[in-house]
Amino acid sequence: MEAMTIQWFPGHMAKAKREVQEKLKLIDIVFELVDARIPLSSRNPMIDEILANKPRIVLLNKADMADEAITAQWISYFEQQALHALAIDSQGGKGTKQIVAAAKNMLKDKFAKMAAKGIKNPRPMRALIVGIPNVGKSTLINRLAGKHIAKTGDKPGVTKAQQWIKVGKEMELLDTPGILWPKFEEEEVGLKLAATGAIKDAILNLQDVAVYALRFLNQHYPDRLKERYSLQEIPEDIVELFDEIGKRRGCLMAGGAIDYDKVAELVLRDVRTEKLGRLSFEKP
Ligand code: GDP
Repeated sequence: MEAMTIQWFPGHMAKAKREVQEKLKLIDIVFELVDARIPLSSRNPMIDEILANKPRIVLLNKADMADEAITAQWISYFEQQALHALAIDSQGGKGTKQIVAAAKNMLKDKFAKMAAKGIKNPRPMRALIVGIPNVGKSTLINRLAGKHIAKTGDKPGVTKAQQWIKVGKEMELLDTPGILWPKFEEEEVGLKLAATGAIKDAILNLQDVAVYALRFLNQHYPDRLKERYSLQEIPEDIVELFDEIGKRRGCLMAGGAIDYDKVAELVLRDVRTEKLGRLSFEKP
């Protein structure tokens, strides 16, 4: 939902950064959520600076939609940068049970020190989820909370206090995630964010995004492209490819000309709903 409303002006970015940094004071560990299909393009460009030395686990979310072998490569990539990473599917739940154990392992020294100081009943670990809009933050919070999701009073004029959601006995999660902005500088990053549905269609030209997706599929997954649209050969020319798909799928305007917007919409819907299989748009 945030993707529809947030406008990332410099002032808003500064505010988002400040808000995350305020929350960092309350917590032991950050879960940095990224999209497993585009683990670099879906990261905030200032994340290292914002999180500084806070313990962190990178969660490759929507792993159910990404190419499994490539996700495994990404996990090694992050580990090489001394960042622990896990592949998860917040919607279906796969992998999410490992999160608490991984956090506990990462914080074991800190909590061992507390125990050494004579604290008998250590408090639960406190965690914060951060990530760009649409990466799955709310879905993961709901998944981790299970039935115990806290209801926050949303009365006008009353400042909403931070609330903690219990995740089992050992962890508490801030109920509001840290929302950070995506990268804007490179055109290809924008196209990847749009192709995976992370930014709304009105922001970029739909046909541009579909051209990007089709070129990518042609290069990396040509067999799936042929199969999905019953193509014997994939035309070299992108307009011809649009024509072929349009003809086969009846994306026509009155009079019979190909409706390119309709073709673009159809292709992007197929990409985003796994009709072309599990796709990773980035490799380490
Ligand atoms: P937020 O803006 O970061 O809070 O993102 P949301 O939690 O609202 O999720 C954005 C969209 O991604 C929603 O349509 C979710 O159902 C979907 N989603 C979130 N996590 C996953 C996941 O792990 N797998 C799949 N397939 N979809 C997901």
